[in-house]
Amino acid sequence: MSSFIPENLKESINKEYINKFSIDILKQEKFVPINKQDDFLYVGIVDAENRERRNSILTKVILTTKLKPKVIALTEEQFDELIMFCEEQNNVADEPVLIKIEPLNQPEKSDNQFGQVDQLNQDSQIDAVVPNIRSNNVASGAPPKKKLGEQLIGDGLITEEQLTMALTESKQTGTPIGSVLVKLGFIHIEQLREALSRQQGYAHVESKDLKVEPNVIRLLPEDFVKENQAVPISTDGKTIVVGMVHPDNKQVLNDIIYLTGLKPFPLILTHIEYEKCINNFFETKRETEKLMEEISLDENIIIMEESLWNQVEKEFEDESNIVARFASSLITEAIEKKASDIHIEPRNDKYVVRYRTDGILRQILEVPSKIENLLISRLKVVARMDIAEHRRPQDGSFTLKYNNKLYNLRLNTLPVGSKEKMVIRILRSEMRIVNKENKKIEIVGALEEDIKKIELMTTSPHGIILATGPTGSGKTTTLYSILNRVNNEMVNITTVEDPVEIKLEGINQIQVNAKADITFASCMRAILRQDPDIIMVGEIRDIETLDAAIYASLTGHLVLSTVHTNTATATITRLINMGAAPYLIASSLVGVIAQRLMRKLCPMCKELYNPTEQELELIVSSSEDYDGFIGNKIYKAVGCSNCDDMGYVGRMGIYEIMPINRELKKIITNSNIAHEIEEIAVSCGMKTLQRSGLDAILKGETTINEYIRVLGANNE
Ligand SMILES: [Zn+2]
Repeated sequence: MSSFIPENLKESINKEYINKFSIDILKQEKFVPINKQDDFLYVGIVDAENRERRNSILTKVILTTKLKPKVIALTEEQFDELIMFCEEQNNVADEPVLIKIEPLNQPEKSDNQFGQVDQLNQDSQIDAVVPNIRSNNVASGAPPKKKLGEQLIGDGLITEEQLTMALTESKQTGTPIGSVLVKLGFIHIEQLREALSRQQGYAHVESKDLKVEPNVIRLLPEDFVKENQAVPISTDGKTIVVGMVHPDNKQVLNDIIYLTGLKPFPLILTHIEYEKCINNFFETKRETEKLMEEISLDENIIIMEESLWNQVEKEFEDESNIVARFASSLITEAIEKKASDIHIEPRNDKYVVRYRTDGILRQILEVPSKIENLLISRLKVVARMDIAEHRRPQDGSFTLKYNNKLYNLRLNTLPVGSKEKMVIRILRSEMRIVNKENKKIEIVGALEEDIKKIELMTTSPHGIILATGPTGSGKTTTLYSILNRVNNEMVNITTVEDPVEIKLEGINQIQVNAKADITFASCMRAILRQDPDIIMVGEIRDIETLDAAIYASLTGHLVLSTVHTNTATATITRLINMGAAPYLIASSLVGVIAQRLMRKLCPMCKELYNPTEQELELIVSSSEDYDGFIGNKIYKAVGCSNCDDMGYVGRMGIYEIMPINRELKKIITNSNIAHEIEEIAVSCGMKTLQRSGLDAILKGETTINEYIRVLGANNE
């Protein structure tokens, strides 16, 4: 079986390979990496005849060392002797394994393969709270201001900070500044058109003209359109109206005369609209679809199961591997579409891929059956999961750099029938709300009065502030925004999160790890010994965590957390039901923020209409609410090319903010009946989620249907 004889194994052991594993893992799984010889890493394994066991160990060895393993069968006694020898030699057990930090400082690689892959080591023990490294300080690398930006500032449309942010992004992505400002949501496309038009002295293309006829756009060759960013819009047989990103390019205008025989009439076209035209007409086939065609033609894809090593080897050595490219394009396309989750799931006899965008799942494609197993394996390999394990749920993660932004991807599998369902959560590690320079709380959709109430809560030196709502309602974003406001050199902030979603500079962030018994409650106890001022706990879901939070707040700390309830007042009853004394809740709670995310109407296609009585009855619960709709116009969703025919673009938050004042403290201590608390809160000026939702409809930001989807129909 091998060139070694067991007696010589001890001398052959190479510390370098032992150190790649934790000694606990070696003891637990009963294997020892010995040494490398002739391109093989020899690995001693107990019970090596057990194929499943062997494969699981070899997967680990391959993923950790990237070496091709050869197996040496060991008896229990031989193993014990070897492992004892290792411990004596190295004291490897005493060497702490620190959490790996995401490779923010590694050389950049902007391709869309899994070029840069790393993960937060799941098995590591937390020995120290690792500070976060953030290399890209937005303010420092900003290029000098440009004319358009100054003009927009002069018009009061954007702020200096927004311009700085956009310039950095513009520099990184090569997208013109104006279009970046629109993409970031700082200005509207109409405002950009007008600003460009004024700056350059050309009229701009109207949005209605952008529904270009295919036979008009083909008046110019595709290459020419793309190279010069010039899109034919319309023609009367003599002149040709051309939307141009750079309308003052005389050479291009001459070329158009030469190519079409028509007199060109240039209009300004924003870069965003140019991209949209191009996508509509020339790139109807997405990268993923092209790859799917390639897959169906590629005869070399082997469907039958390969040996473990061959499969893994292929993944590692052949980055041009079509399955790898397909997997990567599934992810980058999801990022482009701003999806939050990717579901790869078995359906009858096939696999389908769905993306969740703005809270809604949509089917994207069916995975070619040839590669369904390879696709799952590929994703498991990059997320360092055990590819030989199909019958138990697994978790994994990796970090991906795409278009100069970092994304943390969390994968988990669940056995469904004889197959596995995989869900990939995309966490964007950079979010706009986390802005060192800007200390104002920025919460999407929150009104100025809402923000004032929240800011007032954060001035409290101790107490508990809770954000509440179902999963995906934006609670964490709200808490991060509050953290960003209170963060400065004078305070010590520690967070316990599951997972750490956004890295914040100057804040100690700890990742919950149930396997290592790092839970919300156990972390809270440890953190309190570290003398923090502000603590954020991912979620309060048991009495242990709640007790720790109350204790922390009563001993002078500000605690931020989330609770999984539907309304601000239900949160109070929930906490009491968990087992906390009402008077303790009354004295420690500073405020509760209940929230939801609602899809926003697409501004390009929304349509005015008169709702019917029956429709209104579904959402109003009082005659005052009803009166609010009399004589007020509201909108419905339609669908156009701007919104992918959904009728909605992006989401906004609606809020119910309940600061705990003296009156509320009294009622909480004496009664825990939700509606009584709510009555008092409303009389003190709290706006309910329902009221905020109705206001959003009346302001033309969302629809009755969306209100019902998020808040449910009124059943009173
Ligand atoms: Zn639309």
